[in-house]
Amino acid sequence: MKWPLICNLNVNLAGHMTYSLTPRVKEEILSQINRAIVEGEVNWDDSGTIDRTIPLGQMRGIARYVPTFVIRHIAYDPSGFAGRSTCTLCELVRSSPNRLIISSGGSLLDHMQRVFAPCFNHYPYLRGQFSLVLREHRSLFSEIDISLIMQFMLSSGFVAASIQIRGSGATLPDHAHVSIFNETLPILKLESTNIGFIQGVGVERCERYPGVVLVLAHGDIHSRAVALTVLCRRLERHSLSYNLYIDSKARVVVVLRVRSHPISYQVKVGTTTAAGMYIPYFEDSNSKDAQVLQELMRSRWLCTNGLEVATSLRETVFQDDPQWLLDRGICTW
Ligand SMILES: [Zn+2]
Repeated sequence: MKWPLICNLNVNLAGHMTYSLTPRVKEEILSQINRAIVEGEVNWDDSGTIDRTIPLGQMRGIARYVPTFVIRHIAYDPSGFAGRSTCTLCELVRSSPNRLIISSGGSLLDHMQRVFAPCFNHYPYLRGQFSLVLREHRSLFSEIDISLIMQFMLSSGFVAASIQIRGSGATLPDHAHVSIFNETLPILKLESTNIGFIQGVGVERCERYPGVVLVLAHGDIHSRAVALTVLCRRLERHSLSYNLYIDSKARVVVVLRVRSHPISYQVKVGTTTAAGMYIPYFEDSNSKDAQVLQELMRSRWLCTNGLEVATSLRETVFQDDPQWLLDRGICTW
């Protein structure tokens, strides 16, 4: 594999590669999102969004009240995605009003924007949230795509990114995309310990999570991207889906998923719940009355004690012992 030179690399005294910061890119993106919020194009109420701590087994989770999801539910047509003959994300990539403009130069940003279209998320649930949507229509990221996302995370200053695919909660699983945002998630605060290696890159397991979560935090970006791609293909061969989270140090956290919906509840477990942040939704409500929905969301948010969420995680995240992963060659000693 020949890697394109897409970032200015420096080598520090310890021999590790470091990446030059991309000037002003975060500032530029956040100011466009803030302008879109003021203009009503992005629906977000920062002061009205409230977090409450909930226990998720041994993990400290968050229940988040997002008042702007009422607007989303009223505008959202649940049959809209399923019945379409064209891809919603291909249309988004082609339509300039949905797009963020990143004008800063630099080889990383230029290369990144040839591969991804930066787009607004019109109904975000995380601060500073936007999407990078592949310009090409395909369902999975390549090694180079993953490497670009990691390098962007390492150099932009954004706090974290999340990726979901078919079987792990993606609403549009046929077209790969990543959400990038400017705040952390409970899963990214968990400690982890080494359990093995993939392609020479150390693999750790997150402690205190109600299921198996692996972490790739060692090696340089390229070897980590190769190891992650190998891991994902191995999981797919064993019929496991996954959620990926990448932090600002390009550390990758992988939640191993057995299904998108828990057995005991009707609610889909997507990328935020899998990360330990529960947001009440309205899947079961046909109401389009803002007042009714606001009260429903608030009562669900206040009533959550974490038990249903922890059960939902246990029923949708792989529960086997890490030995299972070693025995099947998903990682090795
Ligand atoms: Zn598409």
